[in-house]
Amino acid sequence: MPRPLVVIIDISALQHNLAEARRRLPAATTWAVVKANAYGHGLERGMRAFGAADGLALIEPEAAVALRELGWQKPILLLEGCFDLSDFRLAAQHKFEVTIHCPQQIGWLEKTRFDVPVNVHLKMNSGMNRLGFMPQDFSAAYRRLRANAQVGSIALMTHFANADAADNPGLPLAEQVRRFELGSAGLDAPWNISNSAATLMHADMRSHQVRPGIMLYGGTPGAHKTSPAGAFGLRSAMTLQSELIGIQQIHPGDAVGYGSRFIADAPMTIGVVACGYADGYPRHAPTGTPVLVDGVRTRLVGNISMDMMTVDLTAIPTAHHGSCVTLWGDGLPIDEVAEAAGTIGYELMCAIAPRVRVTER
Ligand SMILES: *Cc1c(COP(=O)(O)O)cnc(C)c1O
Repeated sequence: MPRPLVVIIDISALQHNLAEARRRLPAATTWAVVKANAYGHGLERGMRAFGAADGLALIEPEAAVALRELGWQKPILLLEGCFDLSDFRLAAQHKFEVTIHCPQQIGWLEKTRFDVPVNVHLKMNSGMNRLGFMPQDFSAAYRRLRANAQVGSIALMTHFANADAADNPGLPLAEQVRRFELGSAGLDAPWNISNSAATLMHADMRSHQVRPGIMLYGGTPGAHKTSPAGAFGLRSAMTLQSELIGIQQIHPGDAVGYGSRFIADAPMTIGVVACGYADGYPRHAPTGTPVLVDGVRTRLVGNISMDMMTVDLTAIPTAHHGSCVTLWGDGLPIDEVAEAAGTIGYELMCAIAPRVRVTER
């Protein structure tokens, strides 16, 4: 039999979470973000689940082509746009909408022949200092695109660093909005500015197009304690589940696992779970990270191995060889596990390794 470790994707949860995004901004065009293999949930599965979205948005041109080959006929938006001239030929051929964030991309666009005008999303660097035109260069870039007969619609785009913690002193959300408004003053075009955090926490923002990602998968963009997914009405779409494949009774002073990082100070029952860092579980998750055994909450103890991890069964006398272990998902929000492990739910979802079986329900 295959290893008992499995990822279970709940299609109805994906559909429900998309409906939650749409409910918050009913008038907005909704781009369901499916980059990184739909945040680890599977591109084709994401496509199927998000059929009610106005379009799909992603980073990887080859995955965008795959979406067309899988039959997605609605719009597709490349969030980083084209990486070279040849990508523009792909965009023309497959009718992708493209982000334009730098002068090079405008140059490539001007060298490409489109049978139908290409819709573009002109991106401003409103303070995050990754991609985009500076506010003072924005309207010139807009005019250069507008002057091109091959350009169809133009949306004005930016990306927020701190929509989940709007008062971040490094770059308050209001400051990003202010720069965006300033740089796009007088430009008559829709705004494409809201990620999940802005969709969930700032639904009053003037966003004609929204780009929710993490919320569709049942994760939250910020710290789970202040903003748990459940409180937003989101359902977790990914459950990582395995079984106990061994049980050890240990005595005070006995050590567990590599590095003997955990040493028992009382008699304990230790369960061995078929899941390790080669499956995508974070190796740096410390003793105390929560897991469920047959639905009962307990904790990880000792170092994560490549293929296994060890958990405390002392308070779960009914646990047995084959007991169900939930690493995250049903009954255990991924954000809680992420926080215990010093990371974010996004990273856990995306890190699921190819060797892990995936099923649906
Ligand atoms: C990934 C991404 C999003 C989605 O962000 P979430 O925080 O997952 O909602 C939106 N816009 C851009 C440009 C992105 O790259």
